[in-house]
Amino acid sequence: MTADGNFAPAALQGSRPAEACAPELPVLVERGQHEVFCGLTGIIWLHRKIQDAFFLVVGSRTCAHLIQSAAGVMIFAEPRFATAIIEDRDLAGLADMNDELDKVVGRLLERRPEIKLLFLVGSCPSEVIKLDLSRAAQRLSSLHAPRVRVLSYSGSGIETTFTQGEDACLAALVPQMPAETSASPRSLLVVGCLADVVEDQFRRLFAELGVGPVHFLPPRSSGELPPVGPQTHLLLAQPFLAETARLLENRGARRLAAPFPLGIEGTTAWLAVAARAFGIDPLRFDAVTGPKIERARRALQRYRKELEGKSVFFFPDSQLEIPLARLLARELGMELAEVGTPYLHRRHMAPELALLPMGTFLSQGQHLDRQLDRCRAARPDLVVCGLGLANPLEAEGLTTKWSIELLFSPVQGYEQAGDLAELFARPLRRRAKLARLAE
Ligand code: SF4
Repeated sequence: MTADGNFAPAALQGSRPAEACAPELPVLVERGQHEVFCGLTGIIWLHRKIQDAFFLVVGSRTCAHLIQSAAGVMIFAEPRFATAIIEDRDLAGLADMNDELDKVVGRLLERRPEIKLLFLVGSCPSEVIKLDLSRAAQRLSSLHAPRVRVLSYSGSGIETTFTQGEDACLAALVPQMPAETSASPRSLLVVGCLADVVEDQFRRLFAELGVGPVHFLPPRSSGELPPVGPQTHLLLAQPFLAETARLLENRGARRLAAPFPLGIEGTTAWLAVAARAFGIDPLRFDAVTGPKIERARRALQRYRKELEGKSVFFFPDSQLEIPLARLLARELGMELAEVGTPYLHRRHMAPELALLPMGTFLSQGQHLDRQLDRCRAARPDLVVCGLGLANPLEAEGLTTKWSIELLFSPVQGYEQAGDLAELFARPLRRRAKLARLAE
């Protein structure tokens, strides 16, 4: 095994009427060839969030290329991820994989003393050869304690899609969270990676509302893992965290059911659920959120003019599809041709499903060829899909938006509502410009 050498690196007027669609609405469930990134992709935003963590992928050159090319454009300092490459002789059983891994980790930690938390990230190759990374993490943890904690999770494409890598990573953190004490106050735990600027805005908003103490998972520093227990109210900031939520609920946390904080309506409902759980006066809630809603509504107005009446087709990719579809339909007036999601968690998604327009075509999983046929037949104005599908569809004259961009960009909350709408308007504008040039 060798390292790849790159250690260096009240107020919702203006939205469409809520033609509520029952949470038990029919869903086309498909199984077949699918086209999604694997869970390694989550490292790209996770490594920026937990600032003293390092992600060591135990994988192949393909895994190393995926991470490097997906994250490469964003590197401006020494990255906090790398790949320990499983070589042919490792696969042939000619080397002791655990010894090799220990050496790679030893060299890494010697070279990077600022690392406090090391994730060993499993991949397809490490899974195929059944390398037990959880045991390796335990062994390495006792070897390098107390300076470094070593955890493991799987980002393999066999087990995870795209955003499930974040779920697996956060789930690995849950057993490490301290238990509440008998004196612990009621607290709010916001779960899911948010850009720092968004997290800071929500911190200020909760403080203005009088909701607190508020903790975020993941924390910016691995030493600041928040406590969890029966006094913890858990509020999901991302829709793809089924396993993390399950583990937190097993530790006593109470999940607050809410739509996700995308757009004005989602953000307001998300905040309102937390405010209610903390007994905040509705008048105070309106006073705090009112001006922000007004600003966000002004920001959305110009995009509504561009997007209203246009149709959008979602291929399953990030699990953000349903909240985004709700926003595009209800606040920006778009028509939903199909809303595909890789996985539908009915319980977590119930508040979102209730807000989708009546008759929305939902699909779960993927049969790529059939879905491409439906997309071509629908000829939507905009297709939201993974990188692999975008170029072929553009070549067929369809306009696409890369869903991965929605994970890299700060999109949650009031301040970002306009930026989020811009992400959907921009490809349509570009296509219109190209059409004018071609005339
Ligand atoms: Fe490919 Fe699997 Fe590595 Fe992901 S984990 S890059 S799917 S080999």
